[in-house]
Amino acid sequence: MKKWIGLFGLLMLFVCAQAQKSDYSGWQVWRVTVKTKAQLDTLLKKVQDVWSHEVGLGDIDVCLSPKEQAMVRSMRLPIRVLISDVGAVIQSQESDFQIQGDLFSQYQNYDQVILAMRNLQRQYPNLVEMFLIGTSTAGRPIYGLRITRGVRQQRLYSNRPAVLFNGCQHAREWVTVSTNLYIAYQLAGLYGSNTQITDLLGRLEVYIVPVVNPDGYVFTWTNNRLWRKNRRYLGNFQNGPAYGVDLNRNWGYEWGGQGSSNNVYSETYRGPSPMSEVETRRLAQLMASLPNLRAHIDFHSYSQLILWPWSYTSTLTVSDPTFSAVGNQMRLAIEGVHGMNYTPGPVYTTIYPAAGAILDWVYGVHRVLSFCIELRDEGQFGFLLPADQIRPTAEENFAAVLELLEWTKGRFVF
Ligand SMILES: [Zn+2]
Repeated sequence: MKKWIGLFGLLMLFVCAQAQKSDYSGWQVWRVTVKTKAQLDTLLKKVQDVWSHEVGLGDIDVCLSPKEQAMVRSMRLPIRVLISDVGAVIQSQESDFQIQGDLFSQYQNYDQVILAMRNLQRQYPNLVEMFLIGTSTAGRPIYGLRITRGVRQQRLYSNRPAVLFNGCQHAREWVTVSTNLYIAYQLAGLYGSNTQITDLLGRLEVYIVPVVNPDGYVFTWTNNRLWRKNRRYLGNFQNGPAYGVDLNRNWGYEWGGQGSSNNVYSETYRGPSPMSEVETRRLAQLMASLPNLRAHIDFHSYSQLILWPWSYTSTLTVSDPTFSAVGNQMRLAIEGVHGMNYTPGPVYTTIYPAAGAILDWVYGVHRVLSFCIELRDEGQFGFLLPADQIRPTAEENFAAVLELLEWTKGRFVF
């Protein structure tokens, strides 16, 4: 009897999860051109979900419900429809998931990501070590990979500089997860046959955290494809229950300034205090535990940008010449693979102010060369990048990663 109640419970859970799934039929993504500050303010009042990183005069990408479309249309601004049926695109990509393929021809859910990490460790035990960084708000494990020659012989090589890559602070940016997995698979897979990579892995330690925000990531698979923040329950406020902090506004360096919100319902809600979220704290602890950490890339999507500090101010860092030089090398490397154009520059002046972003913390607190790369595309599909672009996106960014590893190997100070 008990068994049947259990089964019934499971079935109900399944039915509820299905029923709760956000429905985006009739939603569209528009690129709206605003010419005045007044137009911009009116637009931002009417729209819940801004996709664009550039919130200023000019072009803005927004994801609109049918009701919002009518409101924005009444403003009589120039409009270009980027995605005419968001619901259909999400659905068509969901049916793609059924097709079996290799790791980089489709997106991977969280269980599949963990499995892919385990498999890599099993395949290359002397090169790859999977480790637990901590657990998320909902108790999910956050895993990392450590990749270096003789990985099991020493917990940390004191004479090897370290580089860290991470993805998926923002849940809906799926291609960042695949790109991080791709970096791990290429490094491990090419060790021994590719002389450059063989040399690099004997001199460096590489850390890879594909999913910083597992609760949000799982939620984008089960409930709402376009969820961005983590999933912490914040409380019941004037507009009902509120969930989630924007992890990339929660970092504790110049926290709380421009480009972050104190509104619990906002997509850029920065949290009640710096480092209030367990996910940011665990990644911060990992970085703080690596005395040799010299470089870092936080992957996001979309917009095709190579960004560096500061995010909180327009002032340039003292390291700007180095950031510029390495950023430009990465830009050229990316362009050399599939001809794609990624725009380089400091966050604040290249896109928008974003106080509380990870790269300001990593550079500001640890003086580590910290980049944010916004992956494909430039807005045609935005967060709903088709699965056939995973591999080329990962390939071109692996070329950028090699540039950063080359820079880092010469950066060791005893
Ligand atoms: Zn992002």
